[in-house]
Amino acid sequence: MWDVIVVGSGISGLTAAAALARRGRRVLVLEQHTIPGGLTQTFRRQDWVFATGVHYVTDVGDEPGPAGGFGRLLSWMTDGALQFASCGNPYDIVRQPGLEFGIQHPQSAYRAALLARFPDQHAAIERWFADVAAARHAAFTLLAARGMPEWLARGLRWWRGAELQQWTGRTLAQRLAEVDDARLRAVLGARWGNYGAPPEVAPFVEHALVTGAYDHGAYYPIGGPARFAEALRAPVERAGGELRLGADVREIVVHGGRARGVRILHDGREQVERAGHVISTIGVGNTLARLDAALAADWRAAAARLRPGLAMVVLYLGFEGDIAGAGASAANVWLYESDDIGAVWSAPADDDAPGLFVSFPSLKDPAHEGPPTAEVLAVCDARAFEPWLHAAPGEPRPEEYLALKAWIEQRLLAQFERNFPALAPMVRFHELSTPLTQASFVRTPDGATYGIEMSAERLASPALNVRTPVPGLLLAGQDVSGAGVEASSMSGLMAAAAIEPALLRQLRA
Ligand SMILES: Cc1cc2nc3c(=O)[nH]c(=O)nc-3n(C[C@H](O)[C@H](O)[C@H](O)COP(=O)(O)OP(=O)(O)OC[C@H]3O[C@@H](n4cnc5c(N)ncnc54)[C@H](O)[C@@H]3O)c2cc1C
Repeated sequence: MWDVIVVGSGISGLTAAAALARRGRRVLVLEQHTIPGGLTQTFRRQDWVFATGVHYVTDVGDEPGPAGGFGRLLSWMTDGALQFASCGNPYDIVRQPGLEFGIQHPQSAYRAALLARFPDQHAAIERWFADVAAARHAAFTLLAARGMPEWLARGLRWWRGAELQQWTGRTLAQRLAEVDDARLRAVLGARWGNYGAPPEVAPFVEHALVTGAYDHGAYYPIGGPARFAEALRAPVERAGGELRLGADVREIVVHGGRARGVRILHDGREQVERAGHVISTIGVGNTLARLDAALAADWRAAAARLRPGLAMVVLYLGFEGDIAGAGASAANVWLYESDDIGAVWSAPADDDAPGLFVSFPSLKDPAHEGPPTAEVLAVCDARAFEPWLHAAPGEPRPEEYLALKAWIEQRLLAQFERNFPALAPMVRFHELSTPLTQASFVRTPDGATYGIEMSAERLASPALNVRTPVPGLLLAGQDVSGAGVEASSMSGLMAAAAIEPALLRQLRA
């Protein structure tokens, strides 16, 4: 009998587990994969080491207030075991035909650079930052409401409902339409890949929340993103808990209307593990699929109205040589092939990607192991892979899929080499991941990069609250909080605080 069972060992699950462990709770973390960490896991090919779902993180700098809050939480949970290196300044570069703009931090530097580059857009730039501040305020309220008991959240919605509605109903495209200058629009809107919904769909609040967080600086975990799981499992184990790998949760066991544990498949054997509470971090769809179909009809109906977001194709590149000397840096490059920054890559077999995100992790991490690497990401519509998207884990990949994948890999490599010609001769290794890869390694439905589509419906949905209609069952993870390591971690902390209210103090620290 455990105090708490956490399903999933991503950043949200391990945050929940480590925070509860710091309060003396015995926690069992169950992970279906043989590597912990979910999207923070890394992998090696020959000598090259690659990251999967972390290119830069927010709010871990040595700053007072919320700007350093995530770093202090991690430090509290891990006794300072995690260290971060700055991604430099600028940390993001927006590149478009005829435009190159480096985004700096703090916000005052970013704003000054915009004003210098677009001097006749003074009023538009000032209005943008004022709106970002107001929208971020609303976004924090929305996030906090996800973690509150329903009666309190209802009160909050009553108190600030009109303001929240004003922000949630407004898309990024609508907000960008208020900016006359197309180049300025491109810079302000370019980074929607950070939460994976194009400007026509994305609520402006999410854009403000995610991009605004980098105004305090962008950082990379020293030693690579796998350090998250290494550092967070230690306090869990010290408190008598366990991180069990290869443990596939098949069912959330409910007796007398309350979640009492889970049924797992581990080492080829089915077994039941019991606990006072279960925290599921595997997404709302996966969670509901593991509950008796007769339970929680309203929750199911609300979740059925949401759909998975866009997915990604990722090209992993290994180099030999001095890539910094050839123009690479710790800054990410947001590269657009045309003025249309909102285009979605719907036919990867036929077209080049309209936009690429290029990251050079080996230049961000002073402790990077092995020769230099790059990760080239392109947001895409997973329907291009529809025939194979729902294959069972471990099922052999058919020839047609492998041929399509090889074709896209060559195409994407050529697109990278065309845009970074000085790096092209140094490429020694390449490998592609598709939406099937994410669906198979971390079981995200449809390989959706950030889970449920980020939309106005999602922000208003009652299906994504930490407290579920099944007593004893709590939800955390990026479906609750929205995209990103910090946000997902906060959802884990909110779930832990629903069990151990003293942890609320860490949310405010
Ligand atoms: C390509 C990519 C790039 C990204 N870049 C960044 C970035 O630069 N900065 C940033 O902040 N964020 C980034 N993100 C987002 C960030 O990685 C995620 O938002 C965050 O890691 C999600 O954490 P999570 O705990 O919610 O989910 P996950 O990390 O997906 O963890 C869920 C875990 O549950 C496990 N699981 C699933 N089903 C079961 C089951 N039945 N039984 C047991 N275990 C199960 C999975 O294997 C997985 O380990 C990126 C994501 C992607 C995909």
